[in-house]
Amino acid sequence: MKPPAEHREPDDAALRRAAQAVIAYPNDGLPTFDATWYARARSEMSPTHQIRVAPREAATFEVPAGHFFRIISTEGAQVGDLNLWHRHNLNERFYSGKTRALHGTHLSTGDRLWSTFPYLRPMATITRDTLDWYGWDDDGASVHDVIGTRCDPYTGALLSNEHYHHCCHSNLTRALAKQSGQPLAAAEQEVHDVLNVFMCTGFTRDTHQYFMKASPVRPGDYLEFFAEIDLLGALSACPGGDCSASHSSDAAACYPLTVEIYKPDPKTLTDWKPAQLNRYVGGHGVPPAV
Ligand SMILES: [Zn+2]
Repeated sequence: MKPPAEHREPDDAALRRAAQAVIAYPNDGLPTFDATWYARARSEMSPTHQIRVAPREAATFEVPAGHFFRIISTEGAQVGDLNLWHRHNLNERFYSGKTRALHGTHLSTGDRLWSTFPYLRPMATITRDTLDWYGWDDDGASVHDVIGTRCDPYTGALLSNEHYHHCCHSNLTRALAKQSGQPLAAAEQEVHDVLNVFMCTGFTRDTHQYFMKASPVRPGDYLEFFAEIDLLGALSACPGGDCSASHSSDAAACYPLTVEIYKPDPKTLTDWKPAQLNRYVGGHGVPPAV
């Protein structure tokens, strides 16, 4: 909690507070989400493989550009923490903060998952969300946020001096190290802020603190993505389970998650190309050396 303000309001405080709110990144210049096109591609797709993510563990998966993938709840209410990288360049990874700036605090159908600088292009598009009915509840919460980061052992040590090894950060680190053959410390540097799949979160109205509540996800629900570039993904089945009470411990009931990858019929993709790199000319204003 912040201490009470030390400074008296200026006489024109009301006027200053009444300044008009302006959307910082108007996103109507982005390519529009063509639901009909994605529906056509989906109608001819067939599953290629399936990955099971064990409770309190993470697993990696690859999705070729132009394929769909779904994160599926199978046995019980469970939150998943998702990382994405370019399959051939781990420096290009999901940029949670810029995705939030472009699409808002929670994602659903039509939103894109953007990559880090200097690439800044859509890595994946969310094409179907069986929890899209949830909207915003009376607490101001919604599902699939990009406001939390991922549960991690450092914050646990900081706040309660506990040393828990199955937080999503550690799960993602172990899974990537196993997939890439990197030492644990190197893999840890590649792990980044996540999309909190199925998690129900918001900011409290009084203190604006990050809160979580029981996920509305039920077995059979899924979040579907279309890979706009070749992807390497990692998904952790969060130790918080449905995140109704706690995380960063073995206290919550946890369930597995499934990732399923689907290949559309190529004839539905004839007018589609992988996402192009960002158009910024580069240089940051410094003339190139001659
Ligand atoms: Zn977690």
